[in-house]
Amino acid sequence: MQIVWFKRDLRVDDNAVLSKAVEHGPVLPLYILEPDLWAGRDMGARHYRFLTECVDELDCSLTKLGQPLIVKIGGAIEVLNHLISRHPVEAIWSHQETWNAWTYERDKAVRKYLIKKQIPWHEPSQNGVIRRLKGRDGWSEKWLLNMRAPLINKPLAMVKIEEKTEVLPNFEGIGLKDDNCQKRQKGGRQEGLSYLSSFLDERGKHYSRKMSSPVTAYENCSRISPYLAFGSLSVREVFKKIEERRDLISGDSQIEAKSWSRSLRAFSSRLRWHCHFIQKLEDEPQLELTNIHSHFDNLRNRQFNQKERTFFRAWKNGETGYPMIDACMRALVSTGWLNFRMRAMLMSFSSYHLWLHWREPAFHLAKLFLDYEPGIHWSQCQMQSGTTGINTIRIYNPIKQGIDQDPTGEFVRAWVPELHSVSDAQIHMPWLASAGPVNYPDPIVDEKAARKAAAEAVYNLKKGEGYSKIAEQVVKRHASRRNATRSLKSKSKLKKIKNPQLKLPFD
Ligand SMILES: Cc1cc2nc3c(=O)[nH]c(=O)nc-3n(C[C@H](O)[C@H](O)[C@H](O)COP(=O)(O)OP(=O)(O)OC[C@H]3O[C@@H](n4cnc5c(N)ncnc54)[C@H](O)[C@@H]3O)c2cc1C
Repeated sequence: MQIVWFKRDLRVDDNAVLSKAVEHGPVLPLYILEPDLWAGRDMGARHYRFLTECVDELDCSLTKLGQPLIVKIGGAIEVLNHLISRHPVEAIWSHQETWNAWTYERDKAVRKYLIKKQIPWHEPSQNGVIRRLKGRDGWSEKWLLNMRAPLINKPLAMVKIEEKTEVLPNFEGIGLKDDNCQKRQKGGRQEGLSYLSSFLDERGKHYSRKMSSPVTAYENCSRISPYLAFGSLSVREVFKKIEERRDLISGDSQIEAKSWSRSLRAFSSRLRWHCHFIQKLEDEPQLELTNIHSHFDNLRNRQFNQKERTFFRAWKNGETGYPMIDACMRALVSTGWLNFRMRAMLMSFSSYHLWLHWREPAFHLAKLFLDYEPGIHWSQCQMQSGTTGINTIRIYNPIKQGIDQDPTGEFVRAWVPELHSVSDAQIHMPWLASAGPVNYPDPIVDEKAARKAAAEAVYNLKKGEGYSKIAEQVVKRHASRRNATRSLKSKSKLKKIKNPQLKLPFD
């Protein structure tokens, strides 16, 4: 008998381990709910509810094939040990998982246990992420080949195995608190497919133009991220759907075709970034825990002092006095989603204006992002805090972002009702309104002074001895080869830069 251990691949379609394992004999499809994982600081009730919806749908799909999903609650070794003692288990199958520090340690322990038991563990890679990668040269080409490989058909039927399944408790049963995410996306493959097709059929037409503003991004971005994070959609099937859509563009009017073509190109690149960022964590699991560039180790306090605790609380509660920051945080609490630029702005405000170490704020955001994907998340949080040492720093000015991305204050008024009567002209600087808004705080810091101080501190650090040598090693290890030259070039230009508000390459 084979055990297929479902992890972050909650689907039967294009699932290499399921289809391969079925070729070797009867399969017991297993999901292990691990309470210790869910006790982690990065996990929230929104993730759990989404998970249960994915697991329920996976169970229905497997039942149709003849073998329902077997759910077990407990530690992975304990559960596997129990099953191995009851069944003639020949092998365990699961996709390689590049997830958080906890799953990394768990997998090490499981590997040790299975070696002792002399049971093979087959772990093919997922999404083109390569384990024990020697270097980044040629990575993009390999990724492309992986994406162009044919999709894997689901098994036609499965043999039934007798084994007791357990019922997933509700979120409170696993020790999680309600997190008021009333407007979150629903879990499951059907939902994911429907987001993908509505995006490729219609919503994505102006994606490249409308992705940056939170007024339009909720509608014009794909919103497939949670389905990729839980594996109810595979990256490869999305990639293939984009290629199919590209082939159909020629039939559209010229203007529309151009818009579609730009948007599909941008969308396809981001799919590659998805895997590129996970590859970073695969290559350096420590980046979840420590600064990628070690010179940043003493720049900000890892343990917050009293003032930093007050700043952190205001940021978390959406009460900084900067409308765009507060609206974004409150929208995120309620929906579980925010577009890239606004995520970057939240993180940048916390790291530069409030001068907070990235780790606590990143934990807070991880709990709120329904699509929490450690490889992308921790790398991005470090990038937006300037601690990778290779990306040109970008400090987002929340007033400017407000004026550019929400000129009439539509988004701000939707999430910060205290500001409903402030005029459009003053909506992003309500402290200038003559009467002043009711029940809304004054700005927590002076935007310009805080930005200037942060930029100076970072640029001074970059001048330090040995800085460039470490940065070069980071480029070698992590930078996408498309941008490596650009990163090194921009580093040499650093000295000439006067205005710290600069554009950066995304990876
Ligand atoms: C501080 C910070 C933290 C982030 N944390 C996460 C996270 O935990 N999980 C996550 O999926 N994304 C994260 N992102 C990246 C990005 O914001 C989201 O992927 C995107 O907003 C998801 O919405 P979408 O599916 O509509 O994306 P679309 O714009 O429609 O893009 C399609 C897919 O491409 C990938 N993608 C898009 N942008 C990026 C990017 N910049 N880097 C890597 N992959 C990208 C995602 O898988 C996304 O689903 C983070 C960004 C920042 C600045």
